[in-house]
Amino acid sequence: MTPHHVVALDYIRERIAEIGCAPTLDEIGARLTISKTNAHRIVELLIADGKLLRRGTGRNRDLALPDLPDLVAIPTAALRRELARRGVTLEALHRERPIASAYAPTCAVPRCGEPVESGHLMCRDHWYSVDRDHRNEIFRLHGIAKRSRLTADSNAYSDAVWRAATQAAERGRQ
Ligand SMILES: [Zn+2]
Repeated sequence: MTPHHVVALDYIRERIAEIGCAPTLDEIGARLTISKTNAHRIVELLIADGKLLRRGTGRNRDLALPDLPDLVAIPTAALRRELARRGVTLEALHRERPIASAYAPTCAVPRCGEPVESGHLMCRDHWYSVDRDHRNEIFRLHGIAKRSRLTADSNAYSDAVWRAATQAAERGRQ
């Protein structure tokens, strides 16, 4: 997939999660600043690639996502990279704007299983069981990663998140 394909797929996935149906070719074109014809070409390639499904009549907005894989089977490192790539953050713990998700998320702390709002990585109890300094460090690293968009910064941020999840898991056992 080219960067355009990745951006198109991200956009289509988020729109399906947010409003329940796929964007039109015009909307995809506007988002990627490409023509409707090129947007159509990209959508066709994503369908041929199995990344998108066409359901029903194949009209506008009739795109769907293939079945989600079993997240339990995906290695943590791969999940972390994908979450960081999508820009999923812990900001929603403090703010009122959750990030859309296509599935019902649960707390990132192993074996917690508490449902959390979209965009939250941990349940409230676990989040506040993490040291205040560590929580602040996560926000600091997030700010840096968001500004720089460098992989190294994004990894430093997600490492901090997962150290916090581990810490929260240990405390839960005490
Ligand atoms: Zn939890």
